Amino acid sequence: MESTPRHKIPATLIPGDGIGPEVVAATVQVLDALGSPFIWDVQQAGIAGVTHCGDPLPDVTLESVRKNKLALKGPLTTPIGEGFRSSNVRLREEFQLFGNVRPVRTIIPGRYDEIDLVLVRENLGGFYVAHEYYIPVGDDPKAVAVATGVNTRDGCARIARFAFEYALKHGRKKITVVHKANILKVLTGLFLEAARDVARDYGGRVEMSDMIVDACAMQLVLNPWQFDMLLCTNLFGDILSDQLAGLVGGLGMAPGANYGNDTAIFEAVHGSAPDIAGKDVANPISLLLASGLMLEHVGKGDLALRLRTAITETLNTDHIRTRDLKGTASTREFAAAVVRRIEST
Ligand code: ATP
Repeated sequence: MESTPRHKIPATLIPGDGIGPEVVAATVQVLDALGSPFIWDVQQAGIAGVTHCGDPLPDVTLESVRKNKLALKGPLTTPIGEGFRSSNVRLREEFQLFGNVRPVRTIIPGRYDEIDLVLVRENLGGFYVAHEYYIPVGDDPKAVAVATGVNTRDGCARIARFAFEYALKHGRKKITVVHKANILKVLTGLFLEAARDVARDYGGRVEMSDMIVDACAMQLVLNPWQFDMLLCTNLFGDILSDQLAGLVGGLGMAPGANYGNDTAIFEAVHGSAPDIAGKDVANPISLLLASGLMLEHVGKGDLALRLRTAITETLNTDHIRTRDLKGTASTREFAAAVVRRIEST
């Protein structure tokens, strides 16, 4: 029987679709240079799952995550409109990964300096439950489209408590709850109400305010420094986290972590970027930073710090950057440069 090398932490590695295999390979290479604590069980999902196993979320992949309770995942393509349901959403549901954390920090000084924000997104409810259907009228089978969102008081309170606990643990002072309770009075009104209830337990330690999503989108452009943490419903969190990525250089710079009670899956905020897949031009930093969150999760904060320092020096001292950051380095060249930085410290 195979056994896990001593001191190594078993984790599932899902290369994913599009640019996934390229940024995952870069990340594994960099983690190896750091003396990775992980031993990988490589499994497929998304289009790659269909190609390899005839299933966008094969049983063996689920089994591996169930066993390891820890995964690093490349982006999985979700067909737009028709086609199978998002494997990302199914993974979150399967492992009840209710808390999605998306931190952004300025590494390359630019239009917005000294950004340091954390977005916490409710990951299981809202419009993502995807109760959608058409109502036929006459000879048009799609005459009317209906979507129903679902938020539960327990689910809202759970993510609010998660956000406040995160704030305490990470020295954050203020949470802004993002909603649309003037229009979606029930669906997002309950989210706001539950957050206010939870906030009372943290009075004097973590401040809470709230903002309507459209105003928040504008304020993030005008004065992002007024925010510390954002607590969002599922859909608003998805949208605003791309906006946060834009503040720090784009989708290549934004990591994410999905937490449940006993399982955690780490990923980049970006999708599979089919337009640049296979060209060795993708920026691997989002997934590298996600692996840093994974290192922190398993108590290897020292390695996460070394990783972040190596990325910062590669970008700002060596001036090696991928195309999306106005550089010329390929994915592989960037990864090799980060490895050199790690090996020289
Ligand atoms: P999804 O619906 O899966 O979230 P999306 O439609 O938001 O995907 P992404 O794949 O996330 O689209 O990315 C949008 C575009 O941003 C890509 O087509 C690509 O041009 C660019 N992009 C995304 N990630 C990266 C990256 N890591 N490096 C360079 N460019 C990227």
